[in-house]
Amino acid sequence: MTSAENCRLIIDYAKKLGFNEVRVAPVSLAPEYDQTFRDWTDQGFHGEMQYLSNRIVNNIRVSDLLKNTKSVINLASNYYPFEEQGPRAGGQISRYAVSRDYHKIIKKRLKQICTYINDEFSGETKAFVDTGPILEKAFSETSGIGYIGKNGCLITEACGSWVFLSVILTSLDLPADLNSMKINCGNCTRCIDACPTDAINTNKTLDARRCISYLTIENRSSIQDELKSKMSNWIFGCDICQEVCPHNVRAQPTEDREFRSRRFSDRYIPLDDILKIKDDKEFLEKFSGTAIMRARRRGLIRNACVAAGNSGDLNLIPLLENIRNMDDAMLAEHAQWALERLQNKC
Ligand code: SF4
Ligand code: SF4
Repeated sequence: MTSAENCRLIIDYAKKLGFNEVRVAPVSLAPEYDQTFRDWTDQGFHGEMQYLSNRIVNNIRVSDLLKNTKSVINLASNYYPFEEQGPRAGGQISRYAVSRDYHKIIKKRLKQICTYINDEFSGETKAFVDTGPILEKAFSETSGIGYIGKNGCLITEACGSWVFLSVILTSLDLPADLNSMKINCGNCTRCIDACPTDAINTNKTLDARRCISYLTIENRSSIQDELKSKMSNWIFGCDICQEVCPHNVRAQPTEDREFRSRRFSDRYIPLDDILKIKDDKEFLEKFSGTAIMRARRRGLIRNACVAAGNSGDLNLIPLLENIRNMDDAMLAEHAQWALERLQNKC
């Protein structure tokens, strides 16, 4: 069989497993991608995400991740949840977090593809979902799955930016797809205008240190007061720059059974449910198997304190007072901030 025929079989196999888009990129990226990433980390925009700057420090190439890499298979999965009621009280979580942790769902499928490639074509493989030192968005854009918008998200023609990206490196020499994307940002600046913390840079990158998504998930430290008051009720992630994107009007709810099956009935979790969490055991009982585990118990309670301070809900005062009296300086500081905000409203 020719490499084009092998490629077609692999793509068909991946699509049967539920991936919406599957396209191949060559191993070498245009140098601008590396340069943008290097500039981004040099300026400290990655915050505390050391694993990202390590990629630069150690000069990691795809051939360091899989020795004989000849092709990069890019996969996108639509996770856009079915329509929901409008905004409600409570702590808001990002749309991608309502189902079971996507890493687990996607990893299982990637493993099946890797086994298929290995068994049928004797190809070596290595798969990544968000976690490896690899520029997934750059490879996806190169393959033509979508384009990187001003909000830093990969935007696809069919599903907008509500997609999970994953990558399989393989030793098979597959024909690369050409990027023939017809959409772009043009003069639009809606995401930049809507971002509450001014986190969007001018070169399609974010200052993670100001981005609510980073602040509520990856960040393990205190959140600056200036940013706290701009975070509204987001307690895990933030979707604002995607909600306003005109390309997302085309988004259709996912048909994927696993992404449709929700771990949370909606995206608004009562803040008192989080502020009451006593220990890691209770946190695990509530959130095990979801992406929210990434924020860890202290991070989620910290975020809920911020959302409580922004909520105007005076009923949360006793719970915040309990947290302020805990032997945890970071949580106490955030509870105190929230109490002062709420008490000013009394
Ligand atoms: S996720 Fe939210 S905070 Fe981050 S850039 Fe987008 S709008 Fe701004
Ligand atoms: S909101 Fe506008 S500028 Fe931002 S990513 Fe979408 S199209 Fe591009």
